[in-house]
Amino acid sequence: MSNDNAAWQYTRSIASDPTYDLVVAGGGPAGTAAAVCGARLGLKTLLLEATGCLGGMGTSGLVASFGPVSNGERMLVGGFMKELLERMWERQAFGPHVVQEFLHSQLNRWVAFRPEALKRILDEFAVAAGVEIRFFTRVIDADIEGRRLKGVVASNVEGLRYVPARTFVDCTGDAALAAAAGAECKVVLRDTDTVAPSTLCSLYAGVNWADPAYGDGGWKDLDTVRNRTKTELLEKAIADGHFSQEDRFMPGMNKIGQHSGALNGGHVFNLNPLSNRSLSDGMVFGRKLAVEYEAFYRKYVPGCEEIELLTTAPVMGVRDSRRIVGEFELGIEDFRARRQFADQVAVYNRPTDVHPTNTSKEEYERFLKDFHGKDNLGHGGSVGIPYSILVPRGWENLWVAGRCHSSDTKVHGSIRAQSAAYMMGQAAASAAAQSVRTGQPACDLDTAALVGSLREQGAYLPQAELSRHMTR
Ligand SMILES: Cc1cc2nc3c(=O)[nH]c(=O)nc-3n(C[C@H](O)[C@H](O)[C@H](O)COP(=O)(O)OP(=O)(O)OC[C@H]3O[C@@H](n4cnc5c(N)ncnc54)[C@H](O)[C@@H]3O)c2cc1C
Repeated sequence: MSNDNAAWQYTRSIASDPTYDLVVAGGGPAGTAAAVCGARLGLKTLLLEATGCLGGMGTSGLVASFGPVSNGERMLVGGFMKELLERMWERQAFGPHVVQEFLHSQLNRWVAFRPEALKRILDEFAVAAGVEIRFFTRVIDADIEGRRLKGVVASNVEGLRYVPARTFVDCTGDAALAAAAGAECKVVLRDTDTVAPSTLCSLYAGVNWADPAYGDGGWKDLDTVRNRTKTELLEKAIADGHFSQEDRFMPGMNKIGQHSGALNGGHVFNLNPLSNRSLSDGMVFGRKLAVEYEAFYRKYVPGCEEIELLTTAPVMGVRDSRRIVGEFELGIEDFRARRQFADQVAVYNRPTDVHPTNTSKEEYERFLKDFHGKDNLGHGGSVGIPYSILVPRGWENLWVAGRCHSSDTKVHGSIRAQSAAYMMGQAAASAAAQSVRTGQPACDLDTAALVGSLREQGAYLPQAELSRHMTR
């Protein structure tokens, strides 16, 4: 007999680890950057990651492209993200069409890469920095005293373990640690009016990227493929009743190898990323959609007659689930004003990318208008990412980085990108290192010193004025 709402209380003693300087929960873009940079700054760092690899959505999720890293004039990313791009370039980890201008001076160019190459390179960075990594380990609970985190409870094949530390960075995407600690959070579906849909991404072989149907040397890059599949072929397939849902927006197939592609396509609408049942149903539905997309490419897209679906991702591609209520919330008016901040820890340029929330034509048109129109920062523009969106309000030794930062839904649609997440991760770890060194709490950190430290680490932070205090 089961009762869904029954509560069962239990108490037990569990083994405890020695105290770390920094525990990072989640080893996606934000978490890997946080752990590597924290360790490089001399912190004894432990990284707890639920899956068996680093990279998060970029590897486990098969989201095989970085959001733009330049503003059409210059590279905006610095520090660890720049180092990562350089290492990936050396190792030929990018799609064969990616040229250096994508990185240095191209507006709104997504940078496609091979997820397996990213996994390996991130392993190398983490090992070289001296990060202790525990894969297959999930953070499940928090031990707090006031607004201070004392330790986390982690679970893996060895059972439960208590891990005490001086500082913590939550990079779980879902703000899982912040929520467990009782930090105030916003939950999509409950506290926000828009729910960005999820997508289960997938990998394909047998793509003839050089098909002459596309002229001018063939499919040179993702944008060519995207535009054609989006505007003509997809509409035709929808009109033919090919798909089980009329999803008009498909970001497209990332060109990640000479004959292979990674598909960001097939929305799972209204998925609740914080409900296990909804996630489980979503995986089943996502895999069904991937088969429909394989058949779509074979039937409708020139050069894809021989395409083969190799695998879907083992994890759902969740765009938005839970964000912290930070010391500051970055809002769409800040974005449209291209606001710069004294305490900014990164600058970024990517249109707001809140995908259509349902299959209606109106929603698709709303998305296109935002993406190409007023919510696009344009050539040479950027918006600052202030330190204060990484600090759960009032907390002393807890930061978040990546997808669970504090911004409104529209801005979140821009700065949730992997390239921004890597930069936030570095900033959070640098703040943790400063806090360990000086005793300053997260919620009252000297941000002028933080900006100085990030600049020393190679971050591009063009603000002329600095401030001891964060933006609130
Ligand atoms: C379908 C889709 C398409 C996208 N397209 C692009 C794109 O083209 N370009 C781009 O730049 N961005 C894109 N994004 C956005 C981007 O991938 C994510 O927002 C980004 O990866 C966020 O980084 P993160 O480190 O915050 O979280 P994630 O990448 O989600 O990483 C979080 C990590 O934490 C781990 N974790 C979670 N919970 C726990 C726990 N309790 N304990 C331990 N570990 C835990 C996870 O296993 C994961 O490895 C896309 C996102 C989706 C879903």
